[in-house]
Amino acid sequence: MATGSEDLVYGGIKMPSRLPLLLTHEGVLLPGSTVRFSVDTPRNMHLVKHRLLKGTSLQSTIIGVIPNTKDPSKEADEIPTLHKIGTAGIAVQVVGSNWPKPHYTLLITGLCRFSVSSLLTERPFILAEVEQLDKLEHYTNLTPEGVEAEDGELQELSQQFYQTALQLLGMLDVSVPVVAKFRRLLDSLPKETLPDVVASMIRTSNKEKLQVLDAVALEERFKTTLPMLTRQIEGLKLLQKTRKMMPDPEKKVLSVREGGGFPGRHFNLNVEEEDDDGDDTGSLERKVHAAKMPDAPLRVCLKELKRLKKMPQSMPEYALTRNYLDLMVELPWSKSTKDCLDIRAARTLLDIDHYAMDKLKRRVLEYLAVKQLKPTLKGPILCFVGPPGVGKTSVGRSIAKCLGREFHRIALGGICDQSDIRGHRRTYVGSMPGRIINGLKTVAVNNPVFLLDEVDKLGKSLQGDPAAALLEVLDPEQNHSFTDHYLNVTFDLSQVLFIATANTTATVPPALLDRMEVLQVPGYTQEEKVEISHRHLIPHQLEQHGLSSQQLHIPPDTTKDIINRYTREAGVRSLERKIGAVCRAVAVKIAEGQTDSKTEEVTDRLTQQGENAVPLASPPVMPIVIDNRALKDILGAPPFDLEVSERLTLPGVALGLAWTPLGGEIMFVEASRTEGEGQLTLTGQLGDVMKESAHLAISWLRANSKRYQLTNMSGGPDPLEGTDIHLHFPAGAVTKDGPSAGVTIVTCLTSLFSGRPVRSDVAMTGEITLRGLVLPVGGIKDKVLAAHRAGVKRVVVPRRNEKDLEELPANVRDDLDFVAAADLDQVLNAAFDGGFPGTDGVRRDARLSSKL
Ligand code: ADP
Repeated sequence: MATGSEDLVYGGIKMPSRLPLLLTHEGVLLPGSTVRFSVDTPRNMHLVKHRLLKGTSLQSTIIGVIPNTKDPSKEADEIPTLHKIGTAGIAVQVVGSNWPKPHYTLLITGLCRFSVSSLLTERPFILAEVEQLDKLEHYTNLTPEGVEAEDGELQELSQQFYQTALQLLGMLDVSVPVVAKFRRLLDSLPKETLPDVVASMIRTSNKEKLQVLDAVALEERFKTTLPMLTRQIEGLKLLQKTRKMMPDPEKKVLSVREGGGFPGRHFNLNVEEEDDDGDDTGSLERKVHAAKMPDAPLRVCLKELKRLKKMPQSMPEYALTRNYLDLMVELPWSKSTKDCLDIRAARTLLDIDHYAMDKLKRRVLEYLAVKQLKPTLKGPILCFVGPPGVGKTSVGRSIAKCLGREFHRIALGGICDQSDIRGHRRTYVGSMPGRIINGLKTVAVNNPVFLLDEVDKLGKSLQGDPAAALLEVLDPEQNHSFTDHYLNVTFDLSQVLFIATANTTATVPPALLDRMEVLQVPGYTQEEKVEISHRHLIPHQLEQHGLSSQQLHIPPDTTKDIINRYTREAGVRSLERKIGAVCRAVAVKIAEGQTDSKTEEVTDRLTQQGENAVPLASPPVMPIVIDNRALKDILGAPPFDLEVSERLTLPGVALGLAWTPLGGEIMFVEASRTEGEGQLTLTGQLGDVMKESAHLAISWLRANSKRYQLTNMSGGPDPLEGTDIHLHFPAGAVTKDGPSAGVTIVTCLTSLFSGRPVRSDVAMTGEITLRGLVLPVGGIKDKVLAAHRAGVKRVVVPRRNEKDLEELPANVRDDLDFVAAADLDQVLNAAFDGGFPGTDGVRRDARLSSKL
């Protein structure tokens, strides 16, 4: 045996008798295998820096690896107790990196075992006097004839081991490169080295590897490794038995990798990388052929695959190309679902899923019917426009369900980069495909229903206009050859069914709007909301919270209360949230009740045990009914309790109606005056058009002040003389603009100048002209619904908007008294109790009340 002072000789490589030691907790290096170690503790870092990176001779690359079972974080100054045996190895590769923290990655090939005789230095790294334990020459010089008596057993063992390894090999697929390599090694290596090599290749735990390392005597090593090899064979047999039914070659490779435990690592760096690579690209190639892609992408894929095979894995481009190919094989080039459309079933499904919205459902059915009769027809793209929470997305989902297609929602809100739609070129770092291709990958079929949500919220920036990219996607003439920048080959989108949603058409780019058929989805009336709640929202929320209708009952009156006093919206989203809150509160009560009753039952039983009495049957469970008081307890004080009538008691306040993308809203306009120099102050976040309306209203009032007997503060005829006027539009944080507040401003100021309060149940909308005419405005339906929600009784609308009132639900028309005004006289007459006649002698009977 070599002594510490001599040079060690192993496999022709001369080694120093003093070895720097690398303590590692990451794995066990066995002679003949190659392992990658990550190194980040101070001592190990010093070793790499001062020894491996500075040294120039082959000998300086030899280090001792000691498997350290202790946690490295505990390795502070003190050296932990070292494992008694280590492996001397050659560092074949050193890679340094600063991310995420400074560390080196070492690739080390094990040479032989050694034991530590004594430690020489501890800093900056450990240097030790070592004693070599393996002697390869000794084994290789042995001949079967020359073996001594005790070596007969060794011979037998080694033969048995070799046969078992051959048996394992026979069960594996030799076309897999790593298996072929194993076969070669088995034949070419001296048999004595096989236990180490095999133990590092088959599936073994670190603890088992440590046992192999500790087995210094050769017989012991064979004896330790043999059971591991047999276990591997047994495992493989079992796996093959269970997978007999799967003749797929891909599956076979899988079984080899899983059960055979040939992870392709730990042998030799080059072998490892080649093998892994060869194996992976092999399966990738099979996938490329199986993806049934058209010729052009197939050619691109094969070319990339060829490049990939030549690339080392460490190259950054390797990962890029690999990701690209993975995406290409995953895309549904020719996978689609079969449409199963039955119009009658579709009608039922739409009706079951959605209450009301008849017009929309009718149009959707027409659309589906045409699709059934002529599947190839490139129909228009439907765009549902309406306030949030009115069921636009939900109808889109139902359409997919009717057709039996996959559904995917693409949220476009806030997108301002066209690469979001069309992908980033592959040259960029972090490049990826756009949302369309990503969506296709997710649904894995090429004919899904894509819901382009919120097309009105597309942004624009220096990175290009996403709307322009969408144009290409939506145009039936172009989208059969859509090119994503990342893919760089065309993909046929013509089978995809696109549906868009928006809150308003005003901000949808005109070219995009031109490609779509707009279907308005207005807000719901209170009655509709009650129905929707009881048919859909409440059952849905009950289910979501694990409750049943036997446990919780929300009567319609309570629902109405939630709608009127706790929500103010066109849709039903916050209504659903409030119902959810009620369900949560009830769930707590029920859960508490259950535990209570359980403890009661136990105490009942305990007290009755003595008398041998049967426990009383518990009373039937009654549902918790939510009344007004319970509602207030759960949801708190109602936020929208302020009655409109309470705010309209003073002169100088009028109620207008506004349209916002979130639906209609009521809007108060307040005015006050003080002594001053005739200045007009406007507050409340107003846009330019709104400010113009205010000036217009003042001018008209000044021109007509005599006729209406309006006076300023000192009693003079000009309302602005010696008077400052302040007009305020509360809810100041919300920007308001548009001409439709004109009539409200005039009414408000007339009330201020005349000292007469406006009727407390009137709301109005309409644009004015300098001559006092009332011009039509948009969004009448939403505005009237908002007025109805707020409990207004009379609504003044421009005469030319009268036709829009027909679209309103019958109950709303019955509840409200409509005044269709052509000029301001008629507006004022309707807005004040007893009318507001001009004093030019002609009492105009202008109140054209139309009760539609
Ligand atoms: P939007 O896309 O218009 O903002 P959603 O489709 O997300 O609204 O709808 C919000 C919720 O309201 C969903 O749970 C939906 O099922 C429900 N909902 C909306 N309208 C109806 C309706 N008419 N019938 C049944 N449920 C509805």
